[in-house]
Amino acid sequence: MRVALAAPFAFMEEEPAVAKMHDLFGSNVFNDAVMQERLPKETYKALKKTIDDGRRLDPDLAAVVAHAMKEWAVEKGVTHYTHWFQPMTGITAEKHDSFISPKDGGQMILTFSGKELVRGESDASSFPSGGLRSTFEARGYTAWDPTSYAFIKNNVLCIPTAFCSYGGEALDTKTPLLRSMEALSKQAVRVLKLFGRDATRVVPTVGPEQEYFLVDQKLYDQRMDLIFTGRTLFGAKPPKGQEMDDHYFGSVKPRIKAFMTELDEELWKLGVLAKTEHNEAAPAQHEMAPIFSVASIACDHNQLTMEMMKKVAKKHGLVCLLHEKPFQGVNGSGKHNNWSMTTNTGYNLLEPGDSPFESAQFMLFLVSVIKAVDDYQDLLRVSVASAGNDHRLGANEAPPAIVSMFLGDELNEILEAFETGAPYHSREHSDLTIGVHVLPKFPKDNTDRNRTSPFAFTGNKFEFRSLGANASISDANVVLNTAVAESLKQFADELEGAEDFRATLHDLIVREIRNHKRILFDGNGYAQSWVEEAEKRGLYNLRTTIDALPRMIEPKNIKLFSDHRVFSETEILSRFEIKLEEYAKVINIEAETALMMARREILPAVMKFTGDVARQAKAIKDVSPVLTAAPEEKLLTQLTNEAARLSESIDALQQAILNANRNADALTAATYQQDVVIPAMNAVRASADELETIVGKDYWPFPTYAELLFNT
Ligand code: ADP
Ligand code: MG
Repeated sequence: MRVALAAPFAFMEEEPAVAKMHDLFGSNVFNDAVMQERLPKETYKALKKTIDDGRRLDPDLAAVVAHAMKEWAVEKGVTHYTHWFQPMTGITAEKHDSFISPKDGGQMILTFSGKELVRGESDASSFPSGGLRSTFEARGYTAWDPTSYAFIKNNVLCIPTAFCSYGGEALDTKTPLLRSMEALSKQAVRVLKLFGRDATRVVPTVGPEQEYFLVDQKLYDQRMDLIFTGRTLFGAKPPKGQEMDDHYFGSVKPRIKAFMTELDEELWKLGVLAKTEHNEAAPAQHEMAPIFSVASIACDHNQLTMEMMKKVAKKHGLVCLLHEKPFQGVNGSGKHNNWSMTTNTGYNLLEPGDSPFESAQFMLFLVSVIKAVDDYQDLLRVSVASAGNDHRLGANEAPPAIVSMFLGDELNEILEAFETGAPYHSREHSDLTIGVHVLPKFPKDNTDRNRTSPFAFTGNKFEFRSLGANASISDANVVLNTAVAESLKQFADELEGAEDFRATLHDLIVREIRNHKRILFDGNGYAQSWVEEAEKRGLYNLRTTIDALPRMIEPKNIKLFSDHRVFSETEILSRFEIKLEEYAKVINIEAETALMMARREILPAVMKFTGDVARQAKAIKDVSPVLTAAPEEKLLTQLTNEAARLSESIDALQQAILNANRNADALTAATYQQDVVIPAMNAVRASADELETIVGKDYWPFPTYAELLFNT
C-alpha cells in the first residue's frame, strides 16, 4: 500500500539498454542525488528542510546552492540561465541571461548569485494579467520554487519559478497550484489526526495522460489554418476515418516509433517519467502516459512534455498538434488527469484499506471527493473550458459537459448499504458499521468499464477526463485540490468536536452520501436521456465556455478560493477577464484565417476549376452541336450554385468580423464571437467542404484530410 514516489527505475536490471536509461534518466536535472553529491552536507540538509516544510529560502543558503548549480551546469557546457515560468497564456515562458560577469582587466568570469537564483525581474507587460498589472508598473517578478528541481533544456539552465506582480498577486498558473496543494494538505492532515495518523503533509498526486496528433511537416506547411490556429478550419470527411478501429493500440509505424523513442529519451533526461507510448483511437493520433508524481511536478513535467513533443516532432519531419480538435469528424485530444492524495508517510488515501479502521478512513476521503465534485461541479467545468475544448466535450467522443462521477458496482453497493443501513451483499461482509468491517478489494481495471464518465474511480485514484490536450493541467487540479480541501475542512470541523467519534463519523458519511448521490452516474454519458436525467437531478449542463465561465465569479466560488487563500477576489476577477479575452481572441484568429483561406485560396481554386469545365463544355459543343456536354453542364450547375453560396457566406463572415464591438466588455465580446462569428465561420466551411468533394483533386489549394491523416 505504500507508494513509491522516488527512484522509479530502481528495480531495473543493468542490461545495456537499461544501463543507458539509468545514465539518461534525470541527467539534465539538478535533482536530489546531484544536490546531495555537490552541496556541503549542512547546506543540503538545510535546503531539504526548507523544501519539505515549504519555507522561505535563506539568502546565504541560496548563494551556496546557486554556485553549485552553476558549476554543475557549466560542466555540461551551459552558459545561460533562465527563470522558467508559466504565465496565464497556458504555456511556459523564459528569458535567457548569461552567467557572464566582468572582471578587472577586461576579462570575464561566470557567476550565478543567490539573488539571481531566488528572484528575477521580468518586463512582463505583454503577458496577460487581467488588469492586475497596470501598464506603468509593467514589471512582474519571478521567484524560485525550490520544490521543483532546476534542469537543463536546450543548453540553458532553467530555474522553475512562480510569477507574481509587485503587489504579490499571482500572474501564473503555478502559484495557485502550490497554494491549493497547501490548502489540501492542511485540511487532510487535520482529518488524518482524528484517525491517529502522524502524517504532517499530504500531497495530491497526478498522472496526466497526454493525447496528440502527428502530421507531416510538408503538408502542415501548406495549411494556413494549422499554422495560425492549430486546427483545420476546412476539410471534408475522408472516405476512411476511424470507423474501422484499426488504429487504437495498432502497430506503430517506423517514423512514429523513431519519434516516440527520441521523445522518451529527451523526457527521461529531464526526469519526466514517460512510461507508455501508443496509438490512439483516431488515425495519426497517439498518447503518452507518464508515471504519476506530486501535482506541481506533474504540471511542470506536462508542460515540458508538450514542448518536447513539438520539438522532437520537427526533427522527424513531423508536426505535433496539441489542439483539442484538429480534425472535424475525427476524435479530438484530451488529457486524463489521474488524481489521488498521498501522505508524506507514503500512504495513498484513496486506496481502500486492509483493516476496518483504514476502511472508515478511506470512506471519509472518498466521500470528501464526492461532495467536492458535487458542490463545485461548475468550477470543475470551468477549469476545462476553452474554445478548443468546446469541440470535444459533449460530442460523443469525450465526456459530456455535465460533470458526474462513476464509482463502479462494488462501491455503489457499499454506498447504498451505508445509506440505507441495509446489509451489504458481499460474501464475507454483512454489516458496514464504521470501524467494524473491512471493505472488499476493488478491481483496478475499472477504467474501461465506463469510458463516458468525466470523473471515474479507478481502484485507488480518480480520473478526471475532461481536460483538453492543449491546456495546462494546473486549473483542473487547483479546483480539485481546493474543493476537496473544503470538504475535508467541514468534516474536520464537525469531527474534531465530536463526543462519539465513530457514531459521528458514521452519521456524517451517511448524510453526505444522501446529500451528494445525485452526482453519481454509471450509465451512458453520451445518451440524450442522461441530459434529461441530469436536469431533473439539478446538475449543471454548461455546454460551452461562455456558458461556463461566468460561474467563476459566483459568490460561493469566490468564497471557496478566498477562504483557502488560493485566489483573492481580485485574482479571480482578473482570471475571469483573461479567460474571456482569450476565448474572443482565439475565435477571432480562426475567423480571420478562415476568411483569408476561403477568399484567397478556396474561391479562386473553385473558379479556376469552373472555368476549365466551362471551356471544356464549350470545346465539345464547338466540335459538333450533336455531342453532349451534359456531365460538364451538370457539374457547372453544382459548382456555380455552391460557389455563389460560398461567396455570400464569405461576405457575411467578413461583416461578422467587422461588426465586433472593440469597446464591449469582455463577456459581451466573447459572447458575440460565440453567437455570431462561429456560425458565420461554420457557414463558410459548409460550402467549402461541399465544394472540396466536387472540385478536381489537382485544383484543391491545400492537402486534404485523407492526406493529412494517412501520411505519417
Ligand atoms: P493503465 O491505465 O496503463 O492501466 P494505471 O491505471 O495504473 O495504468 O495508471 C494510469 C495513470 O494513472 C498513470 O499515469 C499512472 O501513473 C497514474 N496513477 C496511478 N496511480 C496514481 C495515483 N495514486 N495518483 C495519481 N495518479 C496515479
Ligand atoms: Mg486512462
